[in-house]
Amino acid sequence: MRQPLVAGNWKMNGSSDSIRELVDGILSGLETKAEVLVFPPSVYVQQVRDLLSGSSVKFGVQNVSDQLSGAYTGEISPLMAKDLGCEYVLIGHSERRSLFGETDADVAAKFCALVDQGLVPVLCVGETLSERESGDTMKIVAHQINTVLRTAGPERLANFVIAYEPVWAIGTGLTATPEQAQEVHADIRALLAENDPSMADRTRVLYGGSMKADNAAELMSQPDVDGGLIGGASLIAADFKVICHAA
Ligand code: 13P
Repeated sequence: MRQPLVAGNWKMNGSSDSIRELVDGILSGLETKAEVLVFPPSVYVQQVRDLLSGSSVKFGVQNVSDQLSGAYTGEISPLMAKDLGCEYVLIGHSERRSLFGETDADVAAKFCALVDQGLVPVLCVGETLSERESGDTMKIVAHQINTVLRTAGPERLANFVIAYEPVWAIGTGLTATPEQAQEVHADIRALLAENDPSMADRTRVLYGGSMKADNAAELMSQPDVDGGLIGGASLIAADFKVICHAA
């Protein structure tokens, strides 16, 4: 049985004050069978770690370098993420891909660097609207995933998470229907099974893209949807908790 995972991606939002309020709000009355995780902006990770201490809620960073140290101005090392107590790290978010030019190969290199440090990658994949409209959804998603599987090799695939986030659903209020999400999630699981059936069984595949308090339960009730990666709604403690409780 895969434990549901609900992760909040706060993106580039918040201040010390608003983050304190948000974490307090999330922790108050949170009771869920899901694993709960937040990805604050990296400069606030230490604050969030302290606020979460003693709770079961985990935290991670939204991106890392594939390098461990050196002259990489502005980058964050997997070693630093580990040093701060992160367990999961988001990689390959569509905003990183489209706004910062990250390629499938870049994302695969980050995946390897994380696994080698004992961190768990949350690998984001997803198609744009025009790719969906031309029937290429699974071609795009399979290429994104296969590049990682091939680069990492079987020994690095024991523990990772996939987040399927259709680009057209991110921040748009246009959610994939539960059927659309399930179809792609099932295809992703089949792709994993071609490599290794036990990997397909154990690997959680999250849905992201305008998941909200009022649509989360139906999306997460699909057999291959193992939780959510939440953007906007994770900035509102009450909404995020509704989603956690729906998992
Ligand atoms: P929204 O939930 O705001 O659509 O964002 C989804 C997302 O990009 C999470 O990583």
